[in-house]
Amino acid sequence: MRYLITGGAGFLGSHLVERLLLDGHNVICLDNFYTGTKDNLRNFIQNDQLEVIRGDVTEPFSFEVDAIMNLACPASPVHYQRFPVETTRTSVLGALNSLDLARKLDIPVFQASTSEVYGDPTVSPQNETYWGNVNPIGIRSCYDEGKRAAETLYMDYNRQYGTKIRIARIFNTYGPRMSVNDGRVVSNFIVQALQNQPITIYGDGSQTRSFCYVTDLIDAFVRMMKLEGSLVGPINLGNPSEFTILQLAEKIIELTGSRSPIEFELLPSDDPKQRKPDISLASSALGWKPSVELNEGLTKTIEYFKEKISKAN
Ligand code: NAD
Ligand code: UDP
Repeated sequence: MRYLITGGAGFLGSHLVERLLLDGHNVICLDNFYTGTKDNLRNFIQNDQLEVIRGDVTEPFSFEVDAIMNLACPASPVHYQRFPVETTRTSVLGALNSLDLARKLDIPVFQASTSEVYGDPTVSPQNETYWGNVNPIGIRSCYDEGKRAAETLYMDYNRQYGTKIRIARIFNTYGPRMSVNDGRVVSNFIVQALQNQPITIYGDGSQTRSFCYVTDLIDAFVRMMKLEGSLVGPINLGNPSEFTILQLAEKIIELTGSRSPIEFELLPSDDPKQRKPDISLASSALGWKPSVELNEGLTKTIEYFKEKISKAN
């Protein structure tokens, strides 16, 4: 098959591209390189089955492909909040342009949605029937509401035009190829720990997240694309093991043998207090559950950053 992967030069996108190439598919990667880099594709950029194209999903695009997977959108709060208008534009117009091409070609289209559609959830764990608790006018809204609008468009294209859609609600995922300056918690803490710099905990560290290793997530993406039948709604994808941010910091200090002190900084507004996926639907519909535990995933990620930092010095 020939896949169009938008955002294919980013963290998740590059792992998805790699997996699809390994499975023998042809891949077109469309990316504006805002947070992604060609370096993420370095190991397979020479592969004849891969085409890398600089382009922005906010502009209409057209390629002869058999499936589209729309991952284009900055995912780190630091990067999506830097240009919030562009973030909403990317989510909404990127969804529309992906859906229009899928409708025209009558092919499946996949949306990388997010646990952020649940906002600061008042129920835990979160399952797909929960409507969420989202501030529409806060600093996270460009991302949260952009992704919620994208889900609306996917569901309406399905209801109105019969477009074949897949929506993955992705919970915090980490691993190699996150950038050193990505700004998300796992990469920040590892980079700080490896350099014996203070670990910056926002708030008191009691907020929770559930961390999924990247290869587990990509396996679920592939299963979703193979899904036949009547399931059209969103599916939670993530690892249900829940940790406080303080526990994460302590774990990373231990695994790196770091001398970093912990520093507590101001908690940004609307930062969700808890997040834990209910993955019963993914389990029953896809036969999927994550297999990489946090210690193992962190160890691999730490190895990646060690090499990355030593090359930069
Ligand atoms: P990332 O920032 O590493 O990758 C995003 C990619 O999209 C980058 O390559 C970037 O250059 C590209 N991009 C951004 N705006 C674009 C535009 N207008 N046109 C074309 N390309 C554009 O982030 P990631 O972690 O790889 O996330 C990928 C997708 O998965 C995003 O849609 C994100 O919202 C979603 N997601 C990720 C997570 C996670 O934990 N990693 C969780 C929930 C949702
Ligand atoms: N966080 C932190 N220190 C950092 C980066 C993030 O304490 O250097 C916290 C952040 O406030 C949030 C959690 O870690 O509570 C996860 O943040 P991230 O940006 O990775 O993703 P989010 O789930 O908030 O989108």
